[in-house]
Amino acid sequence: MIIATVKVNHISIMRSIFYLLDKPGGSFSAVEQELPEPGPGEMLVRTRRVSVCQSDVVIQRVGLPRIKSWPAVILHEVSATVEAVGAGVTKFAPGDLIGIGCDIPCGDRACLYCGDKGTGDWTCCPNTQATGHEFPGFARTHAILPDWFVDLGPIMKFPVGFDPDHACQLEPLACCLEGMTRVNNCITNRVVVLIGAGSQSTYALQCAQAMGARKIILVNRGAERLERVLRDFGDERVVGIRWDEQVVENVFTACQPFNEPHFVMMNVPAREGYELSVKLLGYGSVLDAHAGVKGAGGKPRITHEVDLNNDIHYKLQCLQATHGSSMHGIRLAHELLTGGKLPKLGLMTNVTERFRPSQILEAIQRAADGDSLKVIIDFDHP
Ligand SMILES: [Zn+2]
Ligand SMILES: [Zn+2]
Repeated sequence: MIIATVKVNHISIMRSIFYLLDKPGGSFSAVEQELPEPGPGEMLVRTRRVSVCQSDVVIQRVGLPRIKSWPAVILHEVSATVEAVGAGVTKFAPGDLIGIGCDIPCGDRACLYCGDKGTGDWTCCPNTQATGHEFPGFARTHAILPDWFVDLGPIMKFPVGFDPDHACQLEPLACCLEGMTRVNNCITNRVVVLIGAGSQSTYALQCAQAMGARKIILVNRGAERLERVLRDFGDERVVGIRWDEQVVENVFTACQPFNEPHFVMMNVPAREGYELSVKLLGYGSVLDAHAGVKGAGGKPRITHEVDLNNDIHYKLQCLQATHGSSMHGIRLAHELLTGGKLPKLGLMTNVTERFRPSQILEAIQRAADGDSLKVIIDFDHP
């Protein structure tokens, strides 16, 4: 273990190793920093696991306008153990295993969205921030969380003995569940279509199973990942469809005895995904525009003509979107995880998808592969 607490002039100094990404397209280097003891309301946490998000792949390759200064501390899907709490912290205690969301309050305690009396819709705040973006991420062994983060932020405690591999997936699961529950009554006993077979679709598949969907149709271009997901997560309700020229027709056939899906979740970060998604909408369909399309050139415009009368009013269609998560999704994710409702979650990470902190670049490269689902970096083994 490299980490040690040493007493210097009666002040405890914690050494934390930060894995800094030098620039877009760059590489990581380990830098040691000293952390003070947590002040009043603050909390010192030790990183246990970090899972890699597709946005980390984009950030590592081309950067992101939200990251204003380099080198940057990225990675935001994290589980941690509370090491020490400052005066006045009562919600958490040393030894607690926690999962932490990515979208966090802005830090202004009077904010209408994020403050003590706010709505909690902090992703709508004009000063919204997220870990691994404006706020440092968890490519570091230890972090001190400020008082507003500890009080108001998306931090959930897990029971003793809970698997830190699963706790670090609180955040991506929360994002998925925000999309699936923003509109009521479109999953349980309904037909769900998932475009893409990456990690968000694989979470959605497991959540739809837990929520009692009638049928779940998974659409994907690549055979390899589709086969993996069907093999490991499929049951009698799950149908896989290759994304070829007949995809629209094949999805509608698979929806039978219904004519069209009740819920379409667009999880492919590409224009073609949106072009396909709107072709699948029918009577009463809800579309969750879940994956954003962005790159070095910014966010492209993707247009679609909407008939407010025939489609929205008479067909009861709903076009909605979610990105990120609030306490709503975080609590739902925590409920499913701690309630044992996602028994196959561990299958999303196989031996080729486990890395150590000294291998962050390799981990991110693995997450970009066409067959990978959830890459986890294990900070218990430096
Ligand atoms: Zn993420
Ligand atoms: Zn705010």
